[in-house]
Amino acid sequence: MDSEIHGAVEALLEEVAVATQPEPLYDVRRLRGKVAIVTGGSSGIGRAVALEFAEGGTHIAFCFLDTGAQSRLDAQETARRLRALKVQVYFRSCDVRESHDVKDFVAEVQEELGGLQILINNAGIGRDGALWNMEDHEWEAVVRTNLDGAFFFTRAVAPIMRAQEFGKIVNVTSVHGISSEFGISNYASSKAGMIGLTRSAAIELGPRNINVNAVAPGYIRTTRLTDGVAPEILDRAREQAVLGRLGDPQDVAGVVVFLCSEAARHITGAVIPVDGGYLL
Ligand code: NDP
Repeated sequence: MDSEIHGAVEALLEEVAVATQPEPLYDVRRLRGKVAIVTGGSSGIGRAVALEFAEGGTHIAFCFLDTGAQSRLDAQETARRLRALKVQVYFRSCDVRESHDVKDFVAEVQEELGGLQILINNAGIGRDGALWNMEDHEWEAVVRTNLDGAFFFTRAVAPIMRAQEFGKIVNVTSVHGISSEFGISNYASSKAGMIGLTRSAAIELGPRNINVNAVAPGYIRTTRLTDGVAPEILDRAREQAVLGRLGDPQDVAGVVVFLCSEAARHITGAVIPVDGGYLL
């Protein structure tokens, strides 16, 4: 009898001990099976973000803008790498500047991938020039892609995330949304606008358990950067970053995934520089 009671007590203690074990908060397995939209996921930072999620088993929907053979090849290559990680993938050209296209894309993702928990507003462009020479279309292209696009996607996913009382949104802004340089008035305005959008969305969506944050990358080695920016600007950027180097797309991807993990469940409305100390 004694040993029976002893056995029962032991079993109870074991159960209690198991139940009180602290669970690791930063556990990408918790993102396994969830569905993430990455806008502009075909190349650069967006592709690295999509792959980082897929490594943890998150299904991926991404959009890009079909501007010719190269952009289609980039998108197909991203999809191939994602599928190799055994996640479900949905992708197509969807112009983030067109609110109807965005609405349709979000509905298709739900239908094709069976849900939606995460949105990464990453699609972005630059059209640099002194503001007194800047054409209307150069201003509009940048502001509509970077800021309107993030708004359209956030607005489209909000009812879904609100209804399920769960969601994670990360906006890819820039150090140039916080400080600026000559010749980027359109880009800096759009990226500063994204920071305002991040804070507003965090306030409005927080009560339904939706976290909205932003990352602000410094100079990150992507094709767009290495092909499009003068070497002397890159040298200056390297010098200005206290870590003495340009970032890689993976540097940004790791922080984005962290912000969508349970380790970051108490972070919202934050803007996290990923810039090697550039802003210091
Ligand atoms: P890339 O040019 O490599 O990628 C941009 C992505 O956005 C591509 O997939 C592109 O598609 C897509 N895209 C562009 N316009 C649209 C549109 N209208 N609709 C849908 N998709 C579109 O850029 P990066 O990876 O360098 O930049 C990604 C984000 O990071 C941008 O928001 C950028 O401002 C930001 N950032 C980048 C930094 C850097 O140093 N690289 C520094 C700070 C911030 P496609 O190729 O088919 O046109």
